[in-house]
Amino acid sequence: MAHPKTERTLVIVKPDGIQRALIGEIFKRYERTGLKLVALKMLIPTEAMVEEHYLLDPNWKKNVGEKAIASYLKKGETPPSTDPIEVADSVVVSLKKYMTSGPVIAMVWEGGHAVELVRKITGGTEPRSAGVGTIRGDFVLDSYQMADTDTRAIRNLIHASGSVPEAEMEIPHWFKPEEIVKYRMPHEATLYDVDMGSRAV
Ligand code: ADP
Ligand code: MG
Repeated sequence: MAHPKTERTLVIVKPDGIQRALIGEIFKRYERTGLKLVALKMLIPTEAMVEEHYLLDPNWKKNVGEKAIASYLKKGETPPSTDPIEVADSVVVSLKKYMTSGPVIAMVWEGGHAVELVRKITGGTEPRSAGVGTIRGDFVLDSYQMADTDTRAIRNLIHASGSVPEAEMEIPHWFKPEEIVKYRMPHEATLYDVDMGSRAV
């Protein structure tokens, strides 16, 4: 198994993150953990890029539909449909509109347990219920209910890979191998080296 310090994850600052002037705030939160930025680009994605991105994982549709339905039921509210695939089909249409509405920043972060760590800092899908202290919990307020009422995607500032296999599919979708930069930062010695080598001489 590869050392966990080599793990990589895909993060996208979505159009609302750019429009809300949160780029610096978002970068700061990932950067200060010790994770390393190894790839970065700004672009307005095409609808095809967005659709392909979300359909890379064949289970995504079922999961996204089930998650939405469960969230309604938990609050004692009625979901717009009880068929997860029907819910997901409408989410895909909304996501294409949302993600192509303006520039996004796609990036790859690398380091110990990068996928899990970035998800923890990012917070849950729905800002309404995302934890305090997470980016989605602290900087925006959207909900399943508001998104569905207006037939649009939940505006939650960021995409972050949900699992290591998802990251491994998503990174090549956005970056060519030569766009991912290999370099070392001084603090990696303190984070990872077996002998930190920091004793006074
Ligand atoms: P996450 O981004 O937390 O991994 P998902 O992969 O489940 O969440 O969904 C992808 C994106 O689709 C979400 O970030 C959100 O913008 C949007 N979304 C998910 N479920 C819904 C829904 N029921 N209604 C509207 N938009 C949704
Ligand atoms: Mg996801």
